[in-house]
Amino acid sequence: MNTPPTILRDLSCADDYDPNSMPVPKAREVIARFLSPIATMERVAVRAALGRVLAEDVISPLDVPSHDNSAMDGYALRFADLKADGKTTLKMTGSSFAGVPFKGSLAAGQTVRIMTGGVVPAGADTIVMQEHADAKDGQITIGGGHKQGQHLRRAGEDLQKGQPALRKGQPVRPAEIGLIASLGIAEVSVYRKLRVAFFSTGDELVSIGSALGEGQIYDSNRYTLYGMLQRLDCEIVDMGVVRDDPKLLEAAFREAATIADVVITSGGVSVGEADFVKTLLNELGEVVFWKIAMKPGRPLAYGKIGNAHFFGLPGNPVSVMVTFYQFVRDALLKLAGRDPIEPLPTFRVPCTSTLKKAPGRTEFQRGILSRDNAGNMSVRVTGEQGSGILRSMSEANCFIILPTEQGNVTPGTLVEVQVMESVI
Ligand code: AMP
Ligand code: MG
Repeated sequence: MNTPPTILRDLSCADDYDPNSMPVPKAREVIARFLSPIATMERVAVRAALGRVLAEDVISPLDVPSHDNSAMDGYALRFADLKADGKTTLKMTGSSFAGVPFKGSLAAGQTVRIMTGGVVPAGADTIVMQEHADAKDGQITIGGGHKQGQHLRRAGEDLQKGQPALRKGQPVRPAEIGLIASLGIAEVSVYRKLRVAFFSTGDELVSIGSALGEGQIYDSNRYTLYGMLQRLDCEIVDMGVVRDDPKLLEAAFREAATIADVVITSGGVSVGEADFVKTLLNELGEVVFWKIAMKPGRPLAYGKIGNAHFFGLPGNPVSVMVTFYQFVRDALLKLAGRDPIEPLPTFRVPCTSTLKKAPGRTEFQRGILSRDNAGNMSVRVTGEQGSGILRSMSEANCFIILPTEQGNVTPGTLVEVQVMESVI
């Protein structure tokens, strides 16, 4: 009959493995073991690379800057000409403006008017700011106190020809497309987009456009999932709502696994319903079901169906978002080739609310971070924290992350927050 899946078999050997109370970090670590980036890459134009992940190092074809140039508006000169004490007068022999260099080289006793970005003429080794020079009748007079090489940007100082300007695994953001363009590079190699298929499960679910019958609710998870996946720049396949019927579910899982790199479902992983999904997935692939020691978002399934990675998220709308951000997001980034994946930034601020919290699990309460008139940040909780209340996610601008051992929180206590804009 059902042989225990190899993922499960390997895991259950670990001393601290408890599928009924998986700590958040442990679940992350286990999932990470099974992820390797998609191998396919494609060449795209610089602008089209925005939001993608570099699949190869970008090697600089030039020195940056390409010439020694001036960091200031002023005068280029030979340091050796300057008197150690007292004033020096030099003869102006030309100019070097950005894009219009001085032709020829500087002889002893000469200077060239130079603007920021202007190429430093041959022979010159120092720039004196215009504020430190008096210009009169084709000559300039300069006082003491200058250093050799000052205000001069050396060729190759930022980047040398042949060196990697950007590394494989780097996400391409506005700074990166600018940097790539600054090297004169028109096309880069990026990983292909991750293909993610998802569907909602539940007999009670109705899609928008249909009227609600008794006991029915609108499917919101497919919309939040759509939004979260869009933000991660995935290619999305929305497979709609699938009834709690083993035959329909089996067909949906099989189809999803053939068309996508990742399959995400919501609902049907909690006690009771999980049983037939579990049986089904054990036949189709290798899937582990965990009760994560967290709130919201306790039930979670992870595994492989064929070559596709599978995430079975809980049904409650807030749980879907929390489990997505705490587990799926990093997994998708890793599959999409991101390297390294930096942990989402968190910081500590005083909490002005009283928070109910039982030790033994990590909680992700929804918070509102604000700044008072004196400039001090604090956080308060959004109202009711039920895992079905999607409004709590909409009102919040941060998660308040309460660690396993934490009990109730009294006002004034420092708590860890994760700003949602940095998450989504
Ligand atoms: P389940 O995990 O399937 O038992 O679902 C847990 C709760 O989440 C139930 O109240 C479901 O009605 C609700 N739920 C499940 N899927 C969705 C969905 N796609 N949109 C909104 N609520 C859902
Ligand atoms: Mg259900």
